[in-house]
Parts: sequence; C-alpha cells; structure tokens
Amino acid sequence: MAGKWREHFGNDHPIYVEIGMGKGRFLMDNARTYPEINYIGIEKYSSVLLRGIQKLDEEPLGNVSLIRMEAEYIAEVFATGEVDRIYLNFSDPWPKDRHAKRRLPSREFLARYEQILKPGSMVEFKTDNRELFDFAVEEAEAAGWEMPVRTYDLHADEALMQGNIMTEYEERFSSIGNPICKYIIIRPGHRDR
Ligand code: SAH
Repeated sequence: MAGKWREHFGNDHPIYVEIGMGKGRFLMDNARTYPEINYIGIEKYSSVLLRGIQKLDEEPLGNVSLIRMEAEYIAEVFATGEVDRIYLNFSDPWPKDRHAKRRLPSREFLARYEQILKPGSMVEFKTDNRELFDFAVEEAEAAGWEMPVRTYDLHADEALMQGNIMTEYEERFSSIGNPICKYIIIRPGHRDR
C-alpha cells in the first residue's frame, strides 16, 4: 500500500495513523468528529483488532482503515512523507532496559516515523506511565524533535483538554486517579531529502 493510501481512500485528505490502537475507540471517535481526515489504525494482535472491526461493522466510516501488523515495519507500509500525524496512546512500557528499542517512542521508532511523516508534522503521545514518558521525552530531544507541548497532568490543563478525545486506557487510568502525561513533538525539518 505504500504510496497508494490516497488512492485507497479516494481523496487527498490528510492521513493520521494511530499505532497500537487497541479496540479502536479513540480512532473511531476521531473519525466521526473529523470526517475530512483519513484514519489508519495499526494493531499487532488480531484478537484486539477484531473489536475494532466489529465497531466499524456497526458504524461504517469511510475514512477508517485498520491494519494488523507489527509497527516495526511501518516504513514499508507508507511512502516517504505520506503520513500527516501519528498518535501513540498508552504504548506498552517494555520496562527492561534491553527492550528499550521495542518502545514505540524510542529513537529507533522515531527514525521510522521521520521517514513516513511530512516535514513539520506531529507525533502525539499520551500515557500514564511516568517512566515511559520520561524515556520518551529524552529520546525525542536526543533525536532533535521540537516539543511544543509537554504536560504531566493533561486532565488538569484546560487548554489542552479542549477537544481531547479519550482512549480506552485513558478513561480507565484517569478514573483511578492516575495523571496522564502528554507530549506533542514536531518532525525535524533539517534532515529533509
Ligand atoms: N491505544 C489504546 C490501547 C493501548 S494498549 C488505548 O489507549 O486505549 C497498547 C496496544 O498497542 C495494545 O493493543 C498492543 O497490542 C498494541 N501494540 C503494542 N506494541 C505494538 C507494536 N509494536 N505494533 C503494533 N501494535 C502494538
């Protein structure tokens, strides 16, 4: 599909991708709210993705596509600059040091996102896991991404909460009192080909 997504959707609308979409609530709520954006959800487990497919069956939205895949290969599925935004929500923490490369906000993954994102476009990351968030901030800074937004308590920030669409995990963890961390980072422009 690399380079063919606009043809697939039949329009030139921006393409936003959520990696690790889980059951797809965030993706579906976004797609309903913003029909002029195309949403692609990526999930590695078919048992989880199935819940997203069921949602889409009940509410067919023409601006949603789902892919079952391991995100490591994301640069094979999208052409250079084909993607306008990436969302990471409550990504697996992989707490062991030797698994740092598997974390979705790691520098290894940021390099893949940089390939498929248009210059100047954003990655938005939410999590209640402070260790993972601290790691993510360091990785983004080390890789030269700008960070116009960084909060350690999203739900206490009125401005950032404007239009915030909750994920399944966000609902669950904020309801038991966990603060939600969020950053927005901008793809570096100085490494363009
Ligand atoms: N984003 C949802 C789910 C969070 S749980 C929410 O916020 O509610 C993290 C999800 O990401 C799980 O469903 C897991 O299977 C998926 N995931 C984790 N690592 C992945 C990877 N490397 N590639 C694809 N999906 C992944």
